[in-house]
Amino acid sequence: MNCAINENLYTILLEGFPADPDAACLILPDGGVVSYGMLHQESARYANLLVSLGVQSGDRVAVQVEKSVAAVFLYLGCLRAGAVFLPMNVAYKRHELEYFLCDATPRLFVCQPQPRVLADEMARKAGVAHVFELGDDGGGSLAEAAAEHQKTFATVPRIATDLAAILYTSGTTGRPKGAMLSHGNLAANALVLHRLWGFRPGDVLLHMLPIFHAHGLFVAIHCALLNGSPMLFEPRFDAARAVSLLPRATVFMGVPTYYVRLLAESGLTGQQCAGVRLFLSGSAPLLKETFDEFKARTGHTILERYGMTEGGMFTSNPYDAERRGGTVGFPLPGTTIRIVDDAGTPAKTGEVGNILVKGAQVFVGYWRMPEKTREEFTEELFFKTGDMGRFDDDGYITIIGRTRDLIITGGLNVYPKEIEEMVDGMSGVVESAVIGCPDTDLGEVVTVVVVRQKNAAGDALTETGIINALKAIIAGFKVPKQVYFVDDLPRNTMGKVQKNVLRQNEQPSDRAVPT
Ligand code: AMP
Repeated sequence: MNCAINENLYTILLEGFPADPDAACLILPDGGVVSYGMLHQESARYANLLVSLGVQSGDRVAVQVEKSVAAVFLYLGCLRAGAVFLPMNVAYKRHELEYFLCDATPRLFVCQPQPRVLADEMARKAGVAHVFELGDDGGGSLAEAAAEHQKTFATVPRIATDLAAILYTSGTTGRPKGAMLSHGNLAANALVLHRLWGFRPGDVLLHMLPIFHAHGLFVAIHCALLNGSPMLFEPRFDAARAVSLLPRATVFMGVPTYYVRLLAESGLTGQQCAGVRLFLSGSAPLLKETFDEFKARTGHTILERYGMTEGGMFTSNPYDAERRGGTVGFPLPGTTIRIVDDAGTPAKTGEVGNILVKGAQVFVGYWRMPEKTREEFTEELFFKTGDMGRFDDDGYITIIGRTRDLIITGGLNVYPKEIEEMVDGMSGVVESAVIGCPDTDLGEVVTVVVVRQKNAAGDALTETGIINALKAIIAGFKVPKQVYFVDDLPRNTMGKVQKNVLRQNEQPSDRAVPT
């Protein structure tokens, strides 16, 4: 007799479901409610549908749809059937999609109703057996087909190392890489975060993140399900709507841009947030000013954490102790972080180095890229995150930026974040991004791209003014040689500044003229 426990992530999440099947799981904008009982039954229908289509354990199911209740059923149905869920950003265009399908060779492709003809053509090219549609209203051929199936399903046994999902990294250089995440990776991270962030009976999560990314799909949904909590399940982030919903929520998860936009809402007050016990931020750096302003306005100290597609969360500020602005806190329980120089020697406290991570949540490897996978792990099996950071005296970690964003000018290292913080602190500056631009003499020249405030202080900013102010406070080699003014910094959907786009823009708008 096989007594092995089922390590299927769904089985682990299921243990958190409330005893009452009528308990609310997803609360929709129109007041509709999906109960935990329905979630269990509907995910069973989807699992049955997948099996009927010949989807076998380990087969990929590629999904490019808007956020919806049915998309959650499909995700859980994939887990239950032992299929590998492969969500894709709806923003991806034809040639990106074609790459993902040809690379991942899914058995099934679920697309939005609109680009169906295109989807069929791409699926043919990639040898995908089935194409179904799923609309954001839950309509379409997939939901119709699922409705024909039984609402019970015996979740397929999985072991911790079996794949649960592949997420293509937002990689800004080279070919996008499919990060393979196992049932064990996802379960380990979910269980730690659920405990660390103090999830408790009565919690309600305001869910406004997209669900094609680890933040909204794994971090948010897994914590809520493990806790048997309801989610106020909104199709997208909207600051005014978020403010109006906060009195019904106890936990909010967002990217830094959400917090900037919340602060622009006059309705965001301490009173409005009185019932919230935790505001979490991640996926991109939260400016210290945003952290401070949020605290001053609402009385809440945002808890910032850090992680990436290749493993979910790696560090977090503490729940019960000081949450330090500008830092991402400590390694999660069970996670080891090393900060090393290029030779692999541990950096001293306060010294910037490459961040390495090891833990049960760290991904299995890149899909069909064994070489790349090997390169990204050390001999001791630490994953090279590609981020740079430092420990402070108390063990808090600060992220300095991506290794590839490091600027080497005349052989000297310049960390963009150091300069960005100084420029951001100048009167009239909304925010800034520092990049290296190619230069025949120095290799790269430090360049700063600045968003000005639309007021007199902003109008008064000049290239010379910024350069002179910096010359007075930092070493000459770190001082930007050129300043560009732009209306906005390019950001991806997770709020990350796209420095590759800035670097590509040979002539960012409105090149400042030295005065
Ligand atoms: P992604 O794989 O899209 O989740 O992006 C992961 C990357 O986002 C990390 O490697 C970091 O560069 C960045 N990141 C995530 N969280 C933070 C944070 N709290 N502070 C600074 N950078 C972050």
